[in-house]
Amino acid sequence: MPYGISRQIYYYTGDHTVEIQCGGGDYAGPDMLVSAYEGEGREFDDPVEATLTAISVLRAWRKADPEADINLTVRGRLAGEWGAEGEPMTVHDVITWARAEFDRLDRCPRCDEIMPSNERDWWSHEFADGEKFCSDNCASLAYDAFMADAVADMEEEEEYA
Ligand SMILES: [Zn+2]
Repeated sequence: MPYGISRQIYYYTGDHTVEIQCGGGDYAGPDMLVSAYEGEGREFDDPVEATLTAISVLRAWRKADPEADINLTVRGRLAGEWGAEGEPMTVHDVITWARAEFDRLDRCPRCDEIMPSNERDWWSHEFADGEKFCSDNCASLAYDAFMADAVADMEEEEEYA
């Protein structure tokens, strides 16, 4: 599931809020403003990167509109219904959330990067035994390593035969 960023002026509370959306742009709140700052409308696989970008959007918006009271929030997957307005969170809380989110994501067993948010972009190889990788390249490297091990095992067996 990717993460998205948008700026909102909530209909009911009138709160100005930078939202990080779990699930990406499709899960943005309905009171979204037109993108004005770097990173808005982009999708991120990494929640920490999304959070740091959201904080820079927050700073830029506060600078541009110093009179407004501008908040930061995370819009969870379960708050998907139209009209649900995120509660303001501190920068510290949002970073804590991002770290926990980061820790529970699937990682590539080859390079330890976060796996692509869409499972259709995961790669495997013939002898991977169900193991998945982040890229064609990592799957090929894992295949090469498997073959090298298999050859080494065969040579060892021959030596002691
Ligand atoms: Zn990888």
